[in-house]
Amino acid sequence: MTSVTAFLYTDTYLTYQFGPGHPFQPKREKYALDLLQELHVFNGKAKHLEPPPATTEDLLAVHTKEYIDYVQRMCDEGHGYLDSGDTPATKGLYGGALSVVGGSLLGAKLVLEGEVDHAFNPGGGLHHAKADRASGFCVFNDIAVAIRYLQKSYGLERIVVIDIDGHHGDGTQEIFYDEPILTISTHRTGIFPGTGYVNEIGVGNGKGYSVNLPLPEGTFHEAYLHAFTEIIPPLVEAYEPEIIISQFGVDGHYLDPLVGLALTTKTYEEVSQIIHDLSHSFAGGKLLVVGGGGYSVQAVARCWAIMFATISQALPEESEERYNQLFDRDFHLKEKRVFDRVEDTVKRLKERVFPLHDLES
Ligand SMILES: [Zn+2]
Ligand SMILES: [Zn+2]
Repeated sequence: MTSVTAFLYTDTYLTYQFGPGHPFQPKREKYALDLLQELHVFNGKAKHLEPPPATTEDLLAVHTKEYIDYVQRMCDEGHGYLDSGDTPATKGLYGGALSVVGGSLLGAKLVLEGEVDHAFNPGGGLHHAKADRASGFCVFNDIAVAIRYLQKSYGLERIVVIDIDGHHGDGTQEIFYDEPILTISTHRTGIFPGTGYVNEIGVGNGKGYSVNLPLPEGTFHEAYLHAFTEIIPPLVEAYEPEIIISQFGVDGHYLDPLVGLALTTKTYEEVSQIIHDLSHSFAGGKLLVVGGGGYSVQAVARCWAIMFATISQALPEESEERYNQLFDRDFHLKEKRVFDRVEDTVKRLKERVFPLHDLES
């Protein structure tokens, strides 16, 4: 089967920035594209497209008019913060925020129209943004805007979000907390934003559809993959999604300065493979990947290039040697105590959530 994967990026994404000293650096998105061009993946099986910006009308499906106007006004002035101190209002940020949301919307459209099978928007994944407020470097929640668009334009009802960012996807969870949109988040526990515990499972029609896998500091490759494979494939299979949206923040990488997990490029390659397989097995191949956190710029570019090469299967043979150079050299930090804690969390999560999906825990 021949499939096509789109990489969505335009230089306008670079205006989604908070200043030179800020951890969030959009140039990581361009570096990922540069690496993929160097690997010659854009050869038919993969293509690079430049998305148009979202409109304020698109945002209104999720965000309040008051909040959208506030962001625009603050960014025009170009000083102060949009939240309590993490997300500065810089000049040009509003346009950048519309641009990165536009990427997720175009990705959703291309996948649903069958023009591509998979799409990746490295500028998206802004999962902390709430309906009426910014949070944690996230201004507008492109994941939520894309979901509303898929519901409204294509009548989709069963959408799964697999959020592997090092932080809890609290904005996405909050927006869909009482709806049967399956939001799964794996993240470091005990850091920002302070939510994402096993007992947060949704309410009303959303009960059982918020799933949280909180991980201890130092969670490493084997422990992460064990937890991931125990929880996520069975839930996705039981849910029968019409599309998979993956928030692919890579701040769980061991070089990341903010998170404290110990994942590697190999972890991200295997997770990409699993998510890609799940999309073909249970979602007709429909897969939209968005970016997210990642504050070691070079590590982010490598992780995203590896993910994209994996889901697109567009790596030509002559690039394999260069591709292999993107991987971390051996990294070992494997404490049994960490594995045991992860295993205990997996057990508690399965007991709480699996029966709600008629799965045995
Ligand atoms: Zn993060
Ligand atoms: Zn595929």
